[in-house]
Amino acid sequence: MKVWQQPLPRIYTELSEPELRLRIQAAKEALGPKLAVLGHHYQQDAVIDFADFTGDSFELSRKAAEQKGIDYVIFCGVHFMAESADILTDERVRVILPDIGAGCSMADMANLDQTLEAWAQLEETCPGQTIVPITYMNSSAAIKAFVGEHGGAVCTSSNCRNVLEWALAGGAVAAHKPGNKVKVLFFPDQHLGRNTAFAMGYPLDRMVVWDPKQDLGGNDARTLRDADFALWKGHCSVHALFRPEHVDQARAKFPGMKVIVHPECKWEVVQKADMAGSTAYIVDQVRKAPPGTEWAIGTEVHLVNRLKQQHPEQKIVVLSDCQCLCTTMYRIDLPHLCWALENLVDGTVVNEVRVDATTRKWSLVALERMLAIKGTGNPIQRSNSSIQPRPTPIVSQEEAAKAGIVD
Ligand code: SF4
Repeated sequence: MKVWQQPLPRIYTELSEPELRLRIQAAKEALGPKLAVLGHHYQQDAVIDFADFTGDSFELSRKAAEQKGIDYVIFCGVHFMAESADILTDERVRVILPDIGAGCSMADMANLDQTLEAWAQLEETCPGQTIVPITYMNSSAAIKAFVGEHGGAVCTSSNCRNVLEWALAGGAVAAHKPGNKVKVLFFPDQHLGRNTAFAMGYPLDRMVVWDPKQDLGGNDARTLRDADFALWKGHCSVHALFRPEHVDQARAKFPGMKVIVHPECKWEVVQKADMAGSTAYIVDQVRKAPPGTEWAIGTEVHLVNRLKQQHPEQKIVVLSDCQCLCTTMYRIDLPHLCWALENLVDGTVVNEVRVDATTRKWSLVALERMLAIKGTGNPIQRSNSSIQPRPTPIVSQEEAAKAGIVD
């Protein structure tokens, strides 16, 4: 059943920021170890202040799964992330998205009906081929489950290459026979698929784009049969804003500056950049760099600004001034967080994200296949610098007094 975001009670929109911060802290303290608050890298700073862990979507879900004895997870991210947390945590843990309207434009570009239609057309057009579906983490649970049920796996932007290598060897498709031509159907981000396949040595003419609004995805049958990759026509509305000329402009303005971008950026941008990698990779590269290093970073602006604050010894700019902001994630703000937390304190769970049993089962299959693929590592045991437990307290007595909340 679709849950809609109910209007916030007026009080939450009228509270000042200091009041909200104090109430959020009080609610967190009341819930104590029963609760884990997760904050995605792209989240605004005011919300990140209250996150127990920050990181990327998959790592955060795994982190939640590792916490013993928690009853609730509040995911300050977007809908597919909350679904992943629900899939990976114990069934009794209840996962909450403070604003249920916080979706992901990329995940929304592939739905199950379109996928079933695409699968039927591909099977009919490419007889004798092994088709392996792979989905990026940034997809709905329904797509992850489809992939799990059809011999495929999930991938992240960190391990996409390892997962594609596995897929090109036939994945876990039961009917695969040695010698069969293998085709990867990659959801939902065409750019991550294209950038990774190209880096593996596949030329662009071995890849087709699958447009779900067109018959055969907009391809002729022969081109489709010959292709090694069918890339779903999806993209991230944030990373798609970066253009090749932004790289040229950054280089002209700051000669010697390193350009580092996320692989959800277009192929033309990645080709011009010095480095490309996941958010964890970008964070690690900046952390490791010597003082005085200059960076133009092509990813979500909140992460870039946070890196800038954390590394004053380096020069960091966002690759473009296009306001590359994840507007859907931005819907999670202090009023929504406060509302969700205070309801929990009162024993009411609002905005629960729950994945049904069958979808959960097959999504888990797809996720576990990813973890079993050599080279992807096991994030639960791996020490990963992108995951950071947050210190407490969040609001100091001085801050409260300054804000006139307490004396
Ligand atoms: S940054 Fe892009 S892929 Fe990530 S949540 Fe926002 S819209 Fe989705």
